[in-house]
Amino acid sequence: MIAGCASAAASPIQDYLQELHGRYLDLDEGKAATYIPELAKANPGWFGISLATTDGHVYEAGDARQPFTIQSISKPFVYGLALEDNTRAEVLKRIGVEPTGDAFNAISLEANTGRPRNPMINAGAIAAAGLIAGKSPQTRLRRMLEMFSRYAGEEVFCDEAVYRSESETGHRNRAIGHMLRSFDILAEAPDSIVDLYFKQCSVSVTSRQLAVMAATLANRGVNPLTRQQAIRGEYVESILSVMGSCGMYDYAGEWLYRVGMPAKSGVAGGVIAVLPGRLGIGVFSPLLDGHGNSVRGLRVCEELSRYFDLHLFNTPHASKSVIRLQFSLAEVNSNRVRTPPEAEALRVRGAAVRVYQLQGNLFMPTAEVVLHEVMAALAGLRVVVLDLKHVLSINESASRLLYQLLLKLQGQGKPMLFTNIDRAPQLARYLKAKLKARFDSLFQAFDDNDAALEWCEDCLLAEECQPGDAGQPVAPANYEPFAGLAPAEVAVASALLERRKYQPGEVIIQFGAPAGELFLLARGRASVSVRLSGGAAKRLATFSAGMAFGEMAMLDRAPRSAVVTADTEVECDLLKVEDFDRLGETHPRIKILLLRNLALGLSRKLRKANREISVFDY
Ligand code: GLN
Repeated sequence: MIAGCASAAASPIQDYLQELHGRYLDLDEGKAATYIPELAKANPGWFGISLATTDGHVYEAGDARQPFTIQSISKPFVYGLALEDNTRAEVLKRIGVEPTGDAFNAISLEANTGRPRNPMINAGAIAAAGLIAGKSPQTRLRRMLEMFSRYAGEEVFCDEAVYRSESETGHRNRAIGHMLRSFDILAEAPDSIVDLYFKQCSVSVTSRQLAVMAATLANRGVNPLTRQQAIRGEYVESILSVMGSCGMYDYAGEWLYRVGMPAKSGVAGGVIAVLPGRLGIGVFSPLLDGHGNSVRGLRVCEELSRYFDLHLFNTPHASKSVIRLQFSLAEVNSNRVRTPPEAEALRVRGAAVRVYQLQGNLFMPTAEVVLHEVMAALAGLRVVVLDLKHVLSINESASRLLYQLLLKLQGQGKPMLFTNIDRAPQLARYLKAKLKARFDSLFQAFDDNDAALEWCEDCLLAEECQPGDAGQPVAPANYEPFAGLAPAEVAVASALLERRKYQPGEVIIQFGAPAGELFLLARGRASVSVRLSGGAAKRLATFSAGMAFGEMAMLDRAPRSAVVTADTEVECDLLKVEDFDRLGETHPRIKILLLRNLALGLSRKLRKANREISVFDY
């Protein structure tokens, strides 16, 4: 017996699987399949339970690493490959999607066409094997094994003994193959196709691998452990549909009612169940009931579904949480430091710019929430910003709705901006395809909210404030820290200043440097930034002419805690710490005013931070 993986050992989910395993360990109803002699050799005590999430967490209990043959659980996967290899029309012409109440090996074909009713009964599965592309039988088998390996996240092989055993006794399946050939459902001699079918059934797997394969289906075809695409996402719904209606043979209706997940069983005792978007389950226990389904497998799936509320028709609604956060420019500003009149103008007029930070999966029901919120506020808005930073996925219908919203806003002359669009590349592609020549003008994307907010602020301020970055250096009398000084005092203070010039991109203050001076910005723009733990630089503040920076070190004398870089050509006047200190003896009033102005600047920053904290509420 193999214990659960170490990383999940302490989880209550792991504990529950263990408990389930213990509860059904003694259940010995049912019989192992005997019609394939090799399967009759199975140890009736084998019992493995595995559960894999679409986030790639795997939980397991019991014989989760015991190999057994996949048998009919191969059928939905091969059907998916047939869909990838052919047009849907070609596949549907040869294999129906209607459940039958017949057993898996019934020789039942549609009366006139000879078309198998669905791909989960043997006839349909053999027809699907006949649709796998590849010139030679070896190539087809190789492609099949590669597909299974992508799903499992590990290389899988055929169990030769089981294959031989089935091949020696598989007369009924051969008969089905010949019937399919007679109706032209198979386009070539049936022998090599039925042989391929025997081989696909003899692929050796574990319940752990089955859970990962099921989780790959739950994850739209992407293996959650390896991130490899096992099948194109567009075919997954078809695979799950036939599993849902036909996966459990003549028990399919009862299964949907009780368990409520698409599933598939195999005569070696395996069962998989898929909860789309969430998780996959793999159970193994060789003793079968009269339908050919694993007795313990059924019980475990039913228990798991009930205990964890996994029934597909009992899906919780998650749409309201799609808007993680929303705020306006009146509450949160960019990190560009504004003068007090500018900041006041933004507080008065900023409500017209609203940022919606979205999260999770965007599809019609969640996109509807976004549209509803934006439309309800639209009359008072001039700009809408959609922040996609926490979006996990966006499908085509949600992309279409956002595109239509963008056009509506555009019709009213209101721009819609996107930030962190790299999190939703599907949306960018969709908009590009739809907007065509208008894409460059209508699609306004910014790296982050800071950049988008600054753009919005500039738009609002351009209407009523003079841009502050004129070419001429600011006169010392206009430096913010010198506010309130008499002309003679300005002259005294100015005499202490030392002018320095910096090129765009040049570092003005280095992280960790000793604090030697206060910087008064005479011309240009300079930005303070820190390195985030991920390595990216984050802007904390951008200063314009007239403002001061480096004042904190002037007060506490600690080494520099951030980097300051020139954004443009910059001219600064430096006031040395020693000169500042000496002012206390020679001109105490100047020092007091300087300190007061620096304190005012700091309190403005703190107020801004406090306002933002109240919005972000973390
Ligand atoms: N190889 C088996 C057969 O065709 C598969 C059947 C099954 O697992 N139900 O008989």
